[in-house]
Formats: sequence, C-alpha cells, structure tokens
Amino acid sequence: MASSTVQTTHLMQTYGRLPVAFVRGEGAYLEDADGKRYLDALTGLAVAGLGHAHPRVTQAIAEQAATLLHTSNLYEIPKQAELADKLCAVSGMDRVFFGNSGAEANEAAIKIARLHGHKKGIKSPTVVVTDSSFHGRTMATLTATGNRKVQAGFEPLLRGFVRVPYNDVEAVQQIADNNPDVVAILVEPVQGEGGIKIPANDYLNKLRSICDANDWLLMLDEVQTGNGRTGTYFAYQQCGIMPDVVATAKGLGNGVPIGACLAWGRAAELMQPGNHGSTFGGNPLVCAAAIAVVDTINEEGLAARAAVLGERMLERFNTLLQGNNDVVDIRGKGLMIAIELAQDCAGLVTQALERGLLINVTQGNVVRLLPPLTMSDAEADQIVDGVAALISGS
Ligand SMILES: *Cc1c(COP(=O)(O)O)cnc(C)c1O
Repeated sequence: MASSTVQTTHLMQTYGRLPVAFVRGEGAYLEDADGKRYLDALTGLAVAGLGHAHPRVTQAIAEQAATLLHTSNLYEIPKQAELADKLCAVSGMDRVFFGNSGAEANEAAIKIARLHGHKKGIKSPTVVVTDSSFHGRTMATLTATGNRKVQAGFEPLLRGFVRVPYNDVEAVQQIADNNPDVVAILVEPVQGEGGIKIPANDYLNKLRSICDANDWLLMLDEVQTGNGRTGTYFAYQQCGIMPDVVATAKGLGNGVPIGACLAWGRAAELMQPGNHGSTFGGNPLVCAAAIAVVDTINEEGLAARAAVLGERMLERFNTLLQGNNDVVDIRGKGLMIAIELAQDCAGLVTQALERGLLINVTQGNVVRLLPPLTMSDAEADQIVDGVAALISGS
C-alpha cells in the first residue's frame, strides 16, 4: 500500500483516513494503484448501491456532461422535474426539493417543520429527535444528531429540539402530553451510524398515530435506508404508512452529490417561492445520474433483490458464527447488516483491508456492512465468509 500514501498536509484534518487510495472501481470491486482488488462491502457508506462505474449511470452522466451541466433554479429544469415525478411515483409523496447531501435534505425537512409550526401560531416550533441518531454535520442537523461527539466544540447548538430514546413510543407520547411546542418528529427507520439499530416492526406506525393525534409531521431520515437498501424503495413502505416528509441522499446518485427532501399532502405546500434554495441543487447533471439510478433500481427489482441478499447473508452469518461467544447479535434489514461484538473491534477494518475486503465498524463494536444491491450471490457469500473469518480470528 506504500504507493498509495498521499500527502495530506493541506487538507483540514477532519477525517481519520485508512492508508489506501483507490484508482478505479467496477461493480462490487475497487482497485488501488498497485492493481490490488478489494471487495467493497461498504460502497462509500451506502452510496454506490448499484456498484462502481455502473454502465447506465456512467452513460447518463457522460451524455449529460456533453450536453449541459448546469443552468440555475431561476429556470425550468426538465430533468429535475422528471426525477421528482419518478421519486413521487415510487414513494407516493407529492413534491420534492433537491439539495446536494443528506444534511441538506434534513435541513429542508427541519425548515418545513418550522413553517408548519409557525403556520399554527407556535413561536418556538420544536422537533422530537432520538438518541444515537445521525442526521448530518450542519448546525441544525448536528443539533438533531444524538451523538455528543458530533456536537462537541460547536456550541451553542440550535434551539427547537427535544430528545427521546430510540424505539421508545411511550417517551414520545409523554412529550405529546406535555409539550405544546412540538410540531414534528424526525427519525431514521433504521439507525445507520447508531449501529444498525432496528426498531420494533410497528414503531413507525405508532409514531404515525401520535403525529396524527397531535398534528405533528412525521419526518423520516432515509438518507441511508432509502433507494432500495432495506428491501423496499424506502424503508417506511414496509409499514404501510405515509410519512409527511422523507429525506434521502446517499444511494440516490450512486456517487454524484444529490439529496432530496420529499413531502406529502399539506407538508408539500409549506415551502413557497423565496423560502429555500440551493445553487447546485437538482442541476441537470446530478438529476440525469439519479434518473438512471431510480430507473435501474425499479426496472431490475433491486430493492427486492436487497431483501433476498440480506436474508442470505444473515443466514450464512448465523451458521458460520454459531456458538461464537464474541458475537452479541447478528441483525439486518435488507443490505444494512450488523454483527455486534462483545468488545471493541475497530482493528478489524485494517485487517479486512489487508485481505482485500472493505468493511466499517461503528459505535466501536458493531461491524457494519452496506454492500452493493447489484452483487452476485457468490460475492455476498464471499463477504460473509471474509467477515466471519476475521471475527473468528482465522
Ligand atoms: C449519512 C447520513 C446523513 C448525512 O448525509 P451527508 O450527505 O453526509 O450530509 C444524514 N442522515 C443519515 C441517516 C445518514 O446516514
């Protein structure tokens, strides 16, 4: 890996980087400058859901780049309108705002919640958020995030948030009974950074009921869970409910920066001209790429494929790791998979890298896998075998 060592003196030291740089990718594989290949069970953190250098996305980007990169939201952008149509068709939502990241998608959601509150005459509209959540690194989204490490050093945080434990409906009901300033709840259907925490099957349904009873907006952060990853296009579609607001990003562009805030019903009518905007948001280039992504996920049934692959991997992990006392839990939804260990295991990331396997460890002791939806059965098995061997110390 020596030839991959990069001079980083002039980069702000915001990241702890692994000593490797990739020069190309194809499908489930990345390659470094020495020609070493790595099986990618992380996909740049749930971004390259279709795998690297997907031909259809590549072609859409190349054609659009040769035609027109950017105009402005001062003008009509047909590709943006087309992408919004496709996202609404697949989700049942009504309107979409495009930004450039997950944090921006959540910012739009939080701003919609505040508009909803002010429209009702609430002067300090408050959003319910959860412990161990992750919503981004902007000031509003880091305030919403339930992780002190993300917030520390950036105080004062914003007002207008109140926190409850994740997967605790009773705590939300108590806030509903006591806090008249609350206007919305913002929650991940499965917590990603928080350690692939999967709530009770009816968690979102119960939150929907509380929102209905109190005129709150149910706002789902599907930045990581969206775009087919958990087995349906959006995770909430497994609950038979409609949220008022959905934020998504990561897998939507397969690597081009795009985020989207989708809104439904009355929530879709709150933003008015002049309320919000983004110079790059939804430009022709990123929308052309995202159209190719959404079409590919839908036409190839990749959400259902993610569910099948996820089941396959969980089963194989259960078999291979049976009786291993270091393993506390094996869980997943579609292709968000976690092996929780009894002790910290951050060192496994480097060991996996040496063996040509890309994985992630979150929360210190949770091996997190976010592999591509397009991988073969054999590639899925190879990931499981590699991870199980690392965990077993073999
Ligand atoms: C990654 C992530 C974000 C932040 O997305 P960025 O594109 O990094 O701003 C927000 N919410 C969730 C659930 C995420 O996983």
